[in-house]
Amino acid sequence: MQDPRGTDPRNAGSEPALRIFMRRLRQIFAEPAVDGQARLDTIVRQVAGHMVAEVCSIYIKRQDGSLELFATEGLNPEAKHKTFMLRGEGLVGRCAELGQPVNEPDAQNHPFFSYRPETGEDIYHSLLAVPVARGGDVLGVIVVQNRTQRDYGEEDVEVLENTAMVLAEHLVSGDVAGVNTAAEFSRSVPHVVRGQPIAEGLALGHVVLHESRVVVTELTSNDPEAETLRLETAVAELKATLDELLEQNEMAVTGEHREVFEAYRMFANDRGWLKRMKDAIKHGLTAEAAVTRVQNDTRSKMGRHQDTYLRERLKDLDDLSDRLLRVLAGRRSGHHSGKPLPADTILVARTMGPADLLDYDRTRVKGLVIEDSSGQSHVAIVAKALGIAAIGQARGVMERVDDGDPIIVDAETGDVHIRPSSEVIGSYADKARFRARKRRRYRSLKGKPAVTRDGVRIGLSVNAGLLVDMPQMEEAGADGIGLFRTELQFMVSQTLPRLERQTQVYRDIMDAAGGRPVTFRTLDVGGDKVLPYLRQTKEENPALGWRAIRMALDRPGLLRTQVRALLRAAGERDLKLMLPMVTALAEIDAAKALIAREIELLGRRGGPVPSRVEIGVMLEVPSLLFQLDRLMPMVDFVSVGSNDLFQYIYAADRNNDRVSTRYDPLSPAGLRALKTIADAALRHDTPLTLCGEMAGRPLDAMVLIGLGYRQLSMAPSSVGPVKTMILALDTGDITRTLNTLLAAGETSVREPLKRYAADHGLEV
Ligand code: PEP
Ligand code: MG
Repeated sequence: MQDPRGTDPRNAGSEPALRIFMRRLRQIFAEPAVDGQARLDTIVRQVAGHMVAEVCSIYIKRQDGSLELFATEGLNPEAKHKTFMLRGEGLVGRCAELGQPVNEPDAQNHPFFSYRPETGEDIYHSLLAVPVARGGDVLGVIVVQNRTQRDYGEEDVEVLENTAMVLAEHLVSGDVAGVNTAAEFSRSVPHVVRGQPIAEGLALGHVVLHESRVVVTELTSNDPEAETLRLETAVAELKATLDELLEQNEMAVTGEHREVFEAYRMFANDRGWLKRMKDAIKHGLTAEAAVTRVQNDTRSKMGRHQDTYLRERLKDLDDLSDRLLRVLAGRRSGHHSGKPLPADTILVARTMGPADLLDYDRTRVKGLVIEDSSGQSHVAIVAKALGIAAIGQARGVMERVDDGDPIIVDAETGDVHIRPSSEVIGSYADKARFRARKRRRYRSLKGKPAVTRDGVRIGLSVNAGLLVDMPQMEEAGADGIGLFRTELQFMVSQTLPRLERQTQVYRDIMDAAGGRPVTFRTLDVGGDKVLPYLRQTKEENPALGWRAIRMALDRPGLLRTQVRALLRAAGERDLKLMLPMVTALAEIDAAKALIAREIELLGRRGGPVPSRVEIGVMLEVPSLLFQLDRLMPMVDFVSVGSNDLFQYIYAADRNNDRVSTRYDPLSPAGLRALKTIADAALRHDTPLTLCGEMAGRPLDAMVLIGLGYRQLSMAPSSVGPVKTMILALDTGDITRTLNTLLAAGETSVREPLKRYAADHGLEV
């Protein structure tokens, strides 16, 4: 490796040089009355000199994403402020897009090289570009170039990265006066960022940045021992905080975020992490700067990994680094700057774990916007459970907002309005008032049973999956929990919940249900439901793969523990168990045998045994449609999982936007499938429920009742609208209408059904 200073970059003797350079940088920024341009000019001169590079340039990102040449040593000075690289253009643009260093000994022959005659850079062969990034936002790029085909070594990258980090901190804190970065500009005008709704709702409020930015001002230090000690002390304090959190009373009960913190504690004890930070201190950084350096590396790795498991782990580590920075900054607790939360808080976060969200005062948080999160993420699950309007995949939101900015979260369309105009605020305020009125009306129906005009009682239950869902069952005035997705508990945990923990959680759920029935579905993992700690081999078609009951029967230990926990939690109470994704009747026999063994074992050990254990199946796989007369007598109840059933009937991935709504359940094929099931259940007198999303859509619920369904289970927020429809419905009439429509062989029944609803004053 060529090194113009003749030093080996890995040689400990080279460290002081880097430290001296860092000190010089500090002096540049300490200089008082110097304008931003002059500071940048000095930096490029110093870096070029230190690195023995013929060129050093700084490009700053503008609001349109292009990069403006702001300062240069070596290129034509006339080109300053006149040379712009478009988004992604050239090696410099590529560095900004990737958010990673680009190291090219033969830059001119690289396919991405973009020649700019005005700069006079045709004679430079090698190039090293490093992003100037802060908290994941790329603010610019710093570049060095040499005439020779120079291989820039590790130390070169290190010098440039450290310079970039210092520069980024000062740009963000406004110390480079006169330099308006894209981030700064875009924090002053209205914006709409489009993301994906992950938890339904609408919220108007003010931004509270989750992780108010800890600005690291002291970046370099001459006293590595003192900094190492500071780091160690902070890590110890962080660990103590986690221990303290784990001991709190509330945490002992709410199992779901306990495990997250347990995983954090495990990471906090990770020697590799600590060592990397200590190494950075040895290179002349302060403890805070070392944490940031290692965190930046983690973030750039996070962007590259496709593997969900690894990404989740890196996210945890990222979160832990933020916590550590806050400890070093003397902010003892929390995500937020310590100021009280406004009553209309809209949290904006780059990433957020479920435990973080649970940390906030639930009564003040109205909305949530996350840059990097999908509807399947754990924080989305918790947001839904808490009734917080939330949007994920909101790319670029962090670089556009500041604490206190007005913001609107429209989790119907996925739009996030930042600093909206008064017209936009006005129209959303109307929308919000309308929704609130409706909600008040639904709440007033809480105590009223769902009985149709012709006197048919329809059972309305809710779907749940976490302890935090339980108050919503109560608020919705539901008859019970028709589907308790036990896997959510496993999904928000970062380690496999053991028997004791599971028992505690299920007991809490039953206690919270206060005697109303809860149907526990046994673990439905695999497919799109990934458990971070359960390594699964990659499958071509996960939805058709090794999941749910298939996995449970192959790994009986998992199911056995779960059944044991459920039996123990029930004590002498009734217990309802439901098996997911049953395809063949033999699977029911196998699961029943396992459950029977557990009941027997419990009895033999003298523990209290539930007075009655009902075992039902979810009807989600079309194969069961062809053996309904054998299925019905085998089970205590059947619940139609229409989300999966239609995914398989129509061969259309439920998570793929392009096909998921393409085929209508309210078409003759769909309705006949649903009717076949309802007729079979009636013939065999087997209790029947439907717990897929369609149960919560009033028009679909109207149709289901017309087909003979008398029990529906849905999201808590759907109970009000569905009950309103039921109170105005005549079951005899809708049944006749449906039969006529089906007999007529109509191709689309949705439109005639909508007309029927409108004609009969049914709100759908
Ligand atoms: C279903 O498939 O309809 C269902 C209710 O289960 P899940 O959505 O959890 O797969
Ligand atoms: Mg399902």
